[in-house]
Amino acid sequence: MSDYVIDPGRRPALPVLGRTALYPVHRVYCIGRNYADHAVEMGHDPDREPPFFFLKNPDNLDPSGTFPYPPESQDVHHEVELAVALGTGGTSLAIAEAAACVYGYAVSLDMTRRDLQAEAKKLARPWEIAKAFERSAPIGPIVPAAEVGALDHGPVTLAVNGVVRQAGDLDQMIWKVPEMIAHLSRFFTLAPGDVILTGTPAGVGAVVPGDVMEARIAALPPLVVTVA
Ligand code: MN
Repeated sequence: MSDYVIDPGRRPALPVLGRTALYPVHRVYCIGRNYADHAVEMGHDPDREPPFFFLKNPDNLDPSGTFPYPPESQDVHHEVELAVALGTGGTSLAIAEAAACVYGYAVSLDMTRRDLQAEAKKLARPWEIAKAFERSAPIGPIVPAAEVGALDHGPVTLAVNGVVRQAGDLDQMIWKVPEMIAHLSRFFTLAPGDVILTGTPAGVGAVVPGDVMEARIAALPPLVVTVA
C-alpha cells in the first residue's frame, strides 16, 4: 500500500500566530553579513564584500523554546535574525514581485558553532557543521504580513539572562528583504515554504547551558529560548 520503501516522516512545519493550521517548511536560506556592524566585528569590510547565502536544513527550525547545546563545539554563539516565510516563489523575480512573495515574519536565532566556523573559514571549507546542526534555528510563531505589515524597520535585540548583547534595527540591513528574495531567485527556484534568515546585527556572543536568550524584533512576539 505504501508508496515509500521507508517511512517518509512528516514535513517540518511551524506554528502561525493565532491559527491552528501550520506553515510547512520547504528550504531554509540564510544571509551572511547583512548588517555592516556585524560584518566589521567578524573582520570584514562591508563596502568591499557584499552579503552572501548559505543554507540550514528545514528541520533545523525549532519552535520548542529549548536549545540543546550541540556536541563538538566549545563556542556556540547566538545571532538574532528576522525570519521571512515565503507564501509564493519563482525565479528571476523583480523587486516588487519578490516583495509580494512574503507570507509572514518570525523572530529566529541562527545558532552557530563559532569555533568550527572559524576553522572552516581558515581552510576554505563549507559551513554546514557550524550552521546546519540539529535544532540550530530556534524560531517563534510566524505572524502573517497581512497582520503586521512589511517589516522594514524596528528594533532587533537579543538579551542573555536579562543583559542586552545585540541591539540593532531592521533598517540597517544592507540587502532589504525584497532585494534578498530577488537576489536568491536568480540562483534558486524559490518556493512556498521557503524561509529566509535575514542576518544579524553586531554583538554576537557565546552561550552556555542554563542561559536564557530573549530575542525581540519590532512588534513580533518575543522568542525566549533556554540553552539546555
Ligand atoms: Mn546569521
